[in-house]
Amino acid sequence: MSQSNEQRLADFMHGLKLRNPDEPYFHQAVYEVAKNILPFIHQHPEYQEAMVLERLTEPDRIISFRVCWEDDERNIHVNRGFRVQHSNSIGPYKGGLRFHHEVTVDLFKFLAFEQTLKNSLTGLPMGGGKGGSNFSPRDKSDREVMRFCQSFMNEMYRHIGPDTDVPAGDIGVGAREISYLFGQYKRLANKFTGVLTGKGLAFGGSLIRTEATGYGAVYFLQDAMAVKDRQIDGQTAIVSGSGNVAQHAIEKLIDLGAKVLTASDSDGFIHDKHGFDEDKLAFLKELKNERRGRIKEYADEFGCDYHADKTPWQVDCDIAMPCATQNELCEDDARALLKNGCKAVSEGANMPTVQAGVDLFLDAKIIYAPSKAANAGGVAVSGLEMSQNSMRQTWERSELDGRLRSIMQDIHDKCRQYGEGKDGIDYVQGANIAGFTKVADAMLAYGVM
Ligand code: NDP
Repeated sequence: MSQSNEQRLADFMHGLKLRNPDEPYFHQAVYEVAKNILPFIHQHPEYQEAMVLERLTEPDRIISFRVCWEDDERNIHVNRGFRVQHSNSIGPYKGGLRFHHEVTVDLFKFLAFEQTLKNSLTGLPMGGGKGGSNFSPRDKSDREVMRFCQSFMNEMYRHIGPDTDVPAGDIGVGAREISYLFGQYKRLANKFTGVLTGKGLAFGGSLIRTEATGYGAVYFLQDAMAVKDRQIDGQTAIVSGSGNVAQHAIEKLIDLGAKVLTASDSDGFIHDKHGFDEDKLAFLKELKNERRGRIKEYADEFGCDYHADKTPWQVDCDIAMPCATQNELCEDDARALLKNGCKAVSEGANMPTVQAGVDLFLDAKIIYAPSKAANAGGVAVSGLEMSQNSMRQTWERSELDGRLRSIMQDIHDKCRQYGEGKDGIDYVQGANIAGFTKVADAMLAYGVM
């Protein structure tokens, strides 16, 4: 980077931090984008003159509200709900809801900003948003989760709609939560519309939506490896997380012939030297989705190693797929992966690698597929769910998987177009510029607003 680009980045980040103090996640996400976009804008002054990046780093609006609910013992609890409606320049706001005790406005601002660029990459008409609550469904009964979801929707419903804002799931919001939320929306609005995605198949959900994020991250990896004449077949892989994204990343990796050695939750990770197979994956799904148990039970069942309070990044592998949460892969983890021979990282979670780790991967010139490109498959199939709902149609599984496959290939090719240089493909740069241009062009067309 030339001195002037460095100076431009420093000045931009200085202003952003003054306007958004104490928001480290948002700073991190914007920094990673601005590093690529500022030099690009410098060569395209129409974006600079219209202050597009300054406007794009200010959400359209942030909604915050109180959520009261009663537990099974009739104690009253007060939580906070959020929705960051980041940009509807290219379509209705679209992005998941996260229920987790540690959420903040900062977290949702970073996620909504990333979502805007990710949704643009899919080629579908979707803007970006994100939201949720500091409510944790863990250790709650089904009835408690239901009462919370209904109370959350009592306020949320006035801010969303099939042409306004279409939320989906994320950490802590799976099929059960989406069902309760949709049921309450339907009742309040007296409308059966595609206002949420990730719905059950009996009431407007789409096939392949559950699998889409994990599968998509593996499809992207497959395309990136093909550029280097490599295959997933025969490679060893380590995966973090054991929720929706991790389960389906593992499923597709096995399907394509990889040996998957690890999975984790917030208590620790399991290391299965023999690798996952279909039966072990079925056990994991049942454990996490039905019994809502802990990953240690997998080690107890199959007699493999369990490492409490640890992450899997020290395990030797060819492929690493972080699929749990943000900043779960730190600088030392990135060093360990490179030292142990890892040749490819594909991110299922949002921003799972700290910036210093990203820089190490880019310097080492391994395949590094950043989250906004690699995990876009989930929202892409959500976009297809919206289309099916509008058309009152249900598409076949094979058709949807085919569309997901071709959307991921298209995202890969766009990233390649903007990220290929003499040293290989910088997918971070490619994803940032490709995602940015479509949104920026729409903003230019609208004039100043
Ligand atoms: P789930 O709630 O289904 O699973 C989350 C997994 O991550 C669980 O195993 C959970 O463990 C673990 N986890 C959560 N927080 C932490 C933490 N602080 N430290 C270690 N492990 C943690 O969520 P998803 O699988 O849906 O989401 C995972 C990631 O993928 C998130 O970053 C999400 O934003 C991203 N993503 C999800 C999409 C989707 O379609 N679902 C789409 C695009 C991105 P535990 O059970 O102990 O909490």
